[in-house]
Amino acid sequence: MTGSRLILIAVLLQQGLFALGWYVLARIGVERRASVHWMVSTLVISLALALVALRGEVPAALGYGLGPWLVATGFALLHRGVRVLSERPTGDAEHAVVLALMGLTLGWVLHRQAGPAAVVAVASWAFSWQLLRIAREVRSMPLSTARVSVAGICALPFLLIGLLMVLRGVVATVSPSTVGGGVQTDTGTNHITVIGFLVTGILMNLGLMALVMARLVLRLRHLSEHDALTGLLNRGAIEALVVEEHARMRRYGQAFSVLSLDVDHFKHINDRHGHPAGDAVLRSLGQVLMATGRTIDRCGRAGGEEFWMLLPGTGLDGARQVADRLLQDVRALRLPEPLQDLRLSISIGMAVCDQAGESIEQVLRRLDAAVYRAKHEGRDRVVVADLTPPSAPCVPTMSPTSAPATPVS
Ligand code: GH3
Ligand code: MG
Ligand code: MG
Repeated sequence: MTGSRLILIAVLLQQGLFALGWYVLARIGVERRASVHWMVSTLVISLALALVALRGEVPAALGYGLGPWLVATGFALLHRGVRVLSERPTGDAEHAVVLALMGLTLGWVLHRQAGPAAVVAVASWAFSWQLLRIAREVRSMPLSTARVSVAGICALPFLLIGLLMVLRGVVATVSPSTVGGGVQTDTGTNHITVIGFLVTGILMNLGLMALVMARLVLRLRHLSEHDALTGLLNRGAIEALVVEEHARMRRYGQAFSVLSLDVDHFKHINDRHGHPAGDAVLRSLGQVLMATGRTIDRCGRAGGEEFWMLLPGTGLDGARQVADRLLQDVRALRLPEPLQDLRLSISIGMAVCDQAGESIEQVLRRLDAAVYRAKHEGRDRVVVADLTPPSAPCVPTMSPTSAPATPVS
């Protein structure tokens, strides 16, 4: 048995093991549809490599025709899986055209008995087109973190093997003798190619696995930071941003403001119209908040019917404008049926933070007290939280008389 043939069998086994890996991922529900595509793809490529390794022992139509054509089918399935993963159209028309053209050209080459180098040239050009297209597809997936383009790294193996195929296509076209009787025969070029298959087979599958893992991590991160009902940040995430902004203010002295908004008489809405209607109101409010803030402002649902808005770099006047606009926008909000007659209002507590000596706990306490005061004074208004006097760092009580807050509207 030739060395090239042995390595081909190793690649075949390797692809079979990867098929098993994709089967397991599909079974446990990790990117099920894409994993099934890649399982079938690796199985088809294994079958194709078996036919290529058996050249000389099986009819030429199978070894030199069906074998390379099945590899291209495997790459088409791989590409389709990437598109399924990125939720784009599957691109079946392109796959069908590539496979039809390749099938016709291989049939013609075999019919003309043009020799193995012509088969290698046709296959290499088709594979290079497919692999470079996959590299481009993977590269464009929105998977970048602040520092690293995860998608770029995952695309690299496809780019490398695609370029290797371009090189092989050129060699087979300009110097047919270097490919001998096909990839299974022992020539220097073929050794490089099959070792390339071995290495890039591993890298390609690792690239796909990294893609799946990166998406999983990003999705879990999104779920852990966002509120399922409104799509806004959840309590933990918005609180972390407020703490971060507070630390920045202490270090660099840049003021910021926080608004705490609580829906007025929300319990009545639930009682009168039902919980699903209450949920719809919360979703609409979330949209009002997102539409009202600037791009650098951050909104979160702090719990129940209470929302927070963080306004970085914003002092008293700016925050008051935002709060007044929110009051108006919520008053003007028209909800869909059956809530079309409902008139909503919110009470807003507002804390401006520009004192390096004030702790975050003190900020949150006076913010809370300001909301409480807004409720107490009749709701549908903004109350600015007064600064806690340095001599009395704690404002433990929530009673309206002791709450340090100033009504503004
Ligand atoms: P106030 O004007 O004093 O704020 O009165 P309120 O009725 O808005 O306040 P209260 O705290 O008495 O009631 C809040 C209600 O919000 C009670 C709770 O059932 C409801 N609630 C909390 N979370 C959700 C939710 O996710 N969906 C719905 N529909 N209701 C919720
Ligand atoms: Mg409340
Ligand atoms: Mg309320």
